[in-house]
Amino acid sequence: MGTVLVLASTDRKGRIRESVGTLLSMARHLGDPVTVVAARADEVDDAVETVTAAGASKVLIAEITGTGEWRENAELEAATAAYAAVNPIAVLAINAVGAREVAARLAVRIGAALATDAVAVRTVDGAPLAEHSVLGGSFTVESRADAGPLVVTIREGAAAAAGDATTPEVSRLDNLADAEAVTVESVEEIEANEERPDLRTAQRVVSGGRGLGSAEGFELAGRLADALGAAVGASRAAVDAGYASQSLQVGQTGVTVAPQLYVALGISGAIQHRAGMQTSKVIVAINKDSKAPILEIADFGIVGDVFTIVPQLIDELDRRR
Ligand code: FAD
Repeated sequence: MGTVLVLASTDRKGRIRESVGTLLSMARHLGDPVTVVAARADEVDDAVETVTAAGASKVLIAEITGTGEWRENAELEAATAAYAAVNPIAVLAINAVGAREVAARLAVRIGAALATDAVAVRTVDGAPLAEHSVLGGSFTVESRADAGPLVVTIREGAAAAAGDATTPEVSRLDNLADAEAVTVESVEEIEANEERPDLRTAQRVVSGGRGLGSAEGFELAGRLADALGAAVGASRAAVDAGYASQSLQVGQTGVTVAPQLYVALGISGAIQHRAGMQTSKVIVAINKDSKAPILEIADFGIVGDVFTIVPQLIDELDRRR
């Protein structure tokens, strides 16, 4: 069984992203996962604990010294050194800003093929193959390298983390390059609502559309999201109308999500919206138009006014809590 290198990327606060669990579950379809982590000396213990809880049993630590928030350079050097150390058949990274960049730069460095936004992976004749859901989920296409390893970025939420805490085998990488290949001159952070789960990785998402009528009406999506412990998303029409921020847009030109539960409130279900959510496990749609296309893909469709139904739903959820 070949080795599969898993790149554990960090967020802007230096915390390992939860999506490492998704990568580990995917990596097991291909071979024996080895997880590489770039961390400062004071972060190493927490980082090892996090990846172990997500199921990592072999961990390579690349100790970094920089204090900057922009870690992609360090993660690239760590990935390059780890690649040289374990000679994997595939490298998996999460398909998120930053991690995707590291994956692409690594692929160029090692001369490997890059397959982006995969929703599944498997081996065929011993070689890794990636599956992609395209054109709004209407088709599944496959990609693989003619020769050499395959670097794959995995869609966030494409698989549930199936980690068991283990006692990991931890080694240190000491062949890191010192020189930074790229200098980052400035980074502009867009504020996110920290109280709710991150939209890209949330297990539950409540999205609102033009049917919510106004920014005040859109707050109904936030109230239901809070009752469910969900992230908030939005259709492009809701974003364009100023009900929600652009960072919440789900769809072809927004974020792609694949939660366990997706609730669409007052969203018609245009193809461009469906492209970003139709691989969700369970879809619930509330729409007053019984012919709205979203109801064709909903597991549970409720025909009615969101302003009548959703408050009752919130009351019922509160009552059960
Ligand atoms: P509408 O289509 O206007 O639907 C509103 C729905 O609310 C209707 O079905 C109506 O019956 C229902 N409704 C109204 N009042 C109520 C009520 N009181 N209770 C219950 N239901 C009610 N869209 C995206 O979402 N994401 C994208 O990334 C995206 N990218 C695009 C890229 C391109 C190149 C293009 C051309 C379009 C893109 N769009 C995208 C836009 C997309 O085509 C639709 O216009 C958009 O998704 C519609 O948003 P909506 O469903 O909120 O609004």
